[in-house]
Amino acid sequence: MQDNQDYDVVVVGARCGGAPSAMLLARQGHRVLLLDRAPFPSDTLSTLYIQQPGVALLDEWGLLAKVRDSGCPTIDEVVYRLGDVSVSGCATPVRGIRGAYAPLRIILDQILVDGAIAAGVEFADRTRVTALRRDGAGRVTGVVCRTGPDGPEVTVRCALLVGADGMRSTVADLVGAPKVVEHPKLTCAYYALWEGVPSAFEMYEGDTGWIAAVPTNDATLVAAYHPQDRFDEVRHRAREAYLTAVRDNALGLHERLRAGRQSGALHGTGDQQNYFRQAGGPGWALVGDAGHHKDSLTARGIGDAFLQARLLAEHAGPHLGDGADPAALDAAVAGYGAARDAALTEAYQGTIMLAQVAAREQRRALLRVISQDAALTQQYFDTVAGLRRPAELYTPALLSKLQAT
Ligand SMILES: Cc1cc2nc3c(=O)[nH]c(=O)nc-3n(C[C@H](O)[C@H](O)[C@H](O)COP(=O)(O)OP(=O)(O)OC[C@H]3O[C@@H](n4cnc5c(N)ncnc54)[C@H](O)[C@@H]3O)c2cc1C
Repeated sequence: MQDNQDYDVVVVGARCGGAPSAMLLARQGHRVLLLDRAPFPSDTLSTLYIQQPGVALLDEWGLLAKVRDSGCPTIDEVVYRLGDVSVSGCATPVRGIRGAYAPLRIILDQILVDGAIAAGVEFADRTRVTALRRDGAGRVTGVVCRTGPDGPEVTVRCALLVGADGMRSTVADLVGAPKVVEHPKLTCAYYALWEGVPSAFEMYEGDTGWIAAVPTNDATLVAAYHPQDRFDEVRHRAREAYLTAVRDNALGLHERLRAGRQSGALHGTGDQQNYFRQAGGPGWALVGDAGHHKDSLTARGIGDAFLQARLLAEHAGPHLGDGADPAALDAAVAGYGAARDAALTEAYQGTIMLAQVAAREQRRALLRVISQDAALTQQYFDTVAGLRRPAELYTPALLSKLQAT
């Protein structure tokens, strides 16, 4: 990366949104620079679970084998429990793959970056973007960045700037991308890794919150989600509140924790925003959390970031390269935005519903009806995984059963 160097695409942020975007565009033959202010490999906040559509994309890109080779277990047993009702099963296989995966992020994110580098992407970690370059008409034409605390300021030029720099996106701020849909924060999440705690993927909803157990590389991640209105109280006694929530909402899992050992720090956040930002504009696009974020309770962020990467490459890729027409690129980016919204809006609305305590009794009634019917149970798992649209689950037959409860 040199001052005034030209690229077709500069991608800011090198995790689930950025690295696949860079990889797919480079595979189309474009000159791509991928920047991240973090050192790699490195960890980031996550409860790790990749639903089946995301797993299928990893396989499509030739990266799933590396996840498996890391020792990450296949998760093909899923248990949902809400009070006295529970269902267990697994989503329908995709591309012949049965099960989900939950690799540690320090492993997954490096696999994604390695995939980008193998595709010909130039990668610079510890490199922070601080400003934009625009032409006289306001079109984004490049960025200013700095490697390390003392590196020189470097300007790089590009036809398309991709902001994949997360929920607090610098690129979104610099381009002034407005939030076009927004809801209040709904939960706060705390999690830790445990050794000696065997589990399936387990999700419990009880009177005081949600608990998840997620098998990962050589450990089980156990998460507790509290309602957002408890965040100020919970944050000051996070570990006690975490263990109390597991005990009160998932007693059997709590007993397994007592027989195991916490193997890392407790991590948590109360800042899980819910929004769609405008997805693009003249010379720029947003991918992953930068453009769209939702509560992590439904574990969709990773797969949705992968999907956005693929949509952006499909739409914008053919309009990049020597002799490309900026107006055609802008139209393609607008098409990407429309495709993103069409693909993700229903799941967003589902997450907003799921993360609200007020709708718990409706969920209990739904789970009770589903637990009594094998076909509905399968459809439920496919819907939760994102293989079916929610509207397909709510058939007239299901609705009449719900009315009868
Ligand atoms: C507690 C929690 C649990 C979650 N659990 C799950 C789960 O189980 N399953 C799931 O699918 N999703 C989960 N998610 C969501 C998921 O982690 C995210 O949706 C996904 O990682 C988004 O990836 P991203 O690449 O868009 O952004 P990020 O992972 O935020 O990456 C952005 C990158 O941009 C870099 N960056 C930022 N600013 C700059 C700058 N100015 N210059 C250069 N680089 C910059 C950062 O260093 C970072 O590496 C969870 C999220 C949270 C908070």
